[in-house]
Order: sequence, then structure tokens, then C-alpha cells
Amino acid sequence: MSDKLNLLDLTREEMVEFFKEINEKPFRAPQVFKWLHQFVADDFEQMSNISKDLKAKLKEICVIEGPEIIEEQESKDGTVKWALRTKDGQAIETVFIPDGERGTLCISSQVGCALDCSFCSTAQQGFNRNLTTAEIVGQVWLAARRLGALRTTGKRRVSNVVFMGMGEPLQNYTPVVNACDILLDDFGYGLSKRRVTISTSGVVPGLNKLIQNADVALALSLHAPNNELRDQLVPINKKYPIEVLLPSVQQYLNDSNASKKVTIEYVMLKGTNDTAANARELAELLKDLPCKINLIPFNPFPKTRYETSTQKDIDRFGEILIKKGFIVVTRRTRGDDIDAACGQLVGEVLDRTRRQERLKRKAGDIEVRTVS
Ligand code: SAH
Repeated sequence: MSDKLNLLDLTREEMVEFFKEINEKPFRAPQVFKWLHQFVADDFEQMSNISKDLKAKLKEICVIEGPEIIEEQESKDGTVKWALRTKDGQAIETVFIPDGERGTLCISSQVGCALDCSFCSTAQQGFNRNLTTAEIVGQVWLAARRLGALRTTGKRRVSNVVFMGMGEPLQNYTPVVNACDILLDDFGYGLSKRRVTISTSGVVPGLNKLIQNADVALALSLHAPNNELRDQLVPINKKYPIEVLLPSVQQYLNDSNASKKVTIEYVMLKGTNDTAANARELAELLKDLPCKINLIPFNPFPKTRYETSTQKDIDRFGEILIKKGFIVVTRRTRGDDIDAACGQLVGEVLDRTRRQERLKRKAGDIEVRTVS
């Protein structure tokens, strides 16, 4: 384990400061930054416009260290899931979801999660620790290395990044905001503001802070049309109830230069939040909020008390909202044969028995690659 500075941890501005500190010309910083994020280099030797002396100096005091791949699985629908290991042996997951020209990377912001949403399997493992900027950006860096980066292949495979993997991004504020900075930077991944989405369960202080940095799209895990039900599903609602949360979301939209609509995420749980009355109440609640509604069929996991709503109930729910004028998208479940669907991301790589059983069960459908 090295305690050298990991260059993946630095925004371009921080890298300029760092170069000044080590008595190097500041203009070298964006050059190195480009090598890291556009050419996804992992070795200083690849940096052809950097002098020998500077390369030697950087090698002495820094590293370029992405997460280690424990396992790479590809679903029959093209979804790829990586189980990754951090330096201190923690497991996180990252998922790539291709869809025509679009390629969405779903990244984690924490190891585990403290929020305890009752329908989410990450909640079951509890909260372990926050990820660093390098560990967050490292997931995008690694995906670009495995799938091909714009500058090396001429193709941008990862066009969108969503913070919908493990963890609550707004409870890991600074590393997440710095990671977004690197994702949007033209010297970095150069993603458009509308194509980087922070998804939150409603951490209002974090959201209010984000208003000052309102540079990315926002998704809100609402899941219920009233406080009584939301208290049960998303317990942080007891602290920041709907009447406090929605005005804060509205404020974010007013000030944001990324997107003027919030994506409302609504997991469809049979007999819990999927009735016609729930849909009508939701329409009433959201009538003044610029939004599009994403209905997510619940993805089951072992020992859960919930079931997925029937297709009929999901359709009825959606139709009620559409009739009221909302834009509604029912999310297709992707990668469920590799447990890569929403809410199925857990640090289960550490649980070898379960993993081997699952691999046996799914044999034939998926490809498991060993990565050297
Ligand atoms: N903590 C953040 C981001 C992680 S979860 C948040 O709450 O938004 C990403 C999305 O997946 C959230 O909308 C979450 O509610 C949803 N989700 C969690 N578990 C799920 C499950 N088992 N089935 C379907 N969606 C789930």
C-alpha cells in the first residue's frame, strides 16, 4: 500500500496548485491531467509531451492508481458489472449500461450506505466509509480503460454518469462534487452537465449546498406520495420531510444551469405504493414541480419483504400520471442476470459462497472474465 499522492484525486485546479508546490510550471498540470483522464494513462512513461525529469519526479512522489478489478461480468443484454476492490480491501460495484448511442455508467459514492431505505439491498450492509475522489473518478477511469476512451478509440462509450450505485452522494459531499468537476472538465472526461446525474434520497443540507455548485442534473428518490409512506420506505424523510425537501429541489432547479427538470425516481412495490390512489396523490404532490417521473420496477434480493408490482399495476400507475400531463418512463430492468440492477449492488463479492452459487445458476447467460 503506497501513501504517495494519487493523481486521480485531484481536480485540474488542485493539480495546478500541486505543480506550483513542487516547483513545476503550472501549464504542465493540464497536460498531465489530460493524460490521466482523456488517454486514461496508468503510467507516467506514456506521457510523451512530459520531460524525462518531470516524469521521474512525478514517479517519485505520486501514483496513478485506479481501483482493482475483482470480477468483470457481462450480461446477455450488454450490461457490464465490475466488482472492485479499494486499497483497504473494501468492495464496491460499478455498472455500465449500453443503450444504442448512449452508454450510462452507474457509479458508487460510498462503501455501503447509512440511509437504511427498506427496499434497498445496499442498506443491508450498513455504512462502511466514504469513497475518495480518486475512488469515485477511478470507476469512470477504469470503465474508459476497459471499454475504450474517446481519445484512444475515437468513441465515447461512457456518455452519461449517474450516482445511482452504492451510497448516498450528498452524504459524501466534497469528493462527489470534485469528481463531478473532473467529469465535466474539458481537459478531463468532457461530459455535458445534463449527462452527469446526482441521485439523492433527499439529504436537504447537502442539496442546499449543491445549489451553489448546481452544475449537474438531479434525480430524487421520492418513492412515495406522502410522508407517512415515505417515512417507512426512505427513513431520512423523518428528518427532512416532503414539505421541506420539495422546495429545496425547486430551488436547485431555479439555480441550476444543467437541467430545468428533476427526475423523480419511484420504485414500484406491490401493494405498498402502487395503487391508483397513490398515483393520483403523487400527481397532486408534483403538479407544480418541473419533473419527469421514472417508474422503477422493484428488483428483489434475498430476504426482502417486498415484491415487484405487476406490469398491469405499473401501467395503470403510469397512465394516471400521463393523463395528468407528466412525462413518465418505466425503467427497463437491465443486467438482472448478473445482479446489476438498481438496489442489487452490494459488497457481496466478499461472500464467495453466494457468488459461486449465483454463477452456477446463471451459467450460460453471462460471461465472467478474469482481468489481469
Ligand atoms: N442514495 C441515492 C443513490 C443510490 S440508489 C438515492 O437514494 O437516490 C439509486 C436508485 O435505485 C434510487 O432511486 C433507489 O431508491 C433505487 N433502488 C434502491 N433499491 C432498489 C431496488 N431494490 N429496486 C429498484 N430500485 C432500487
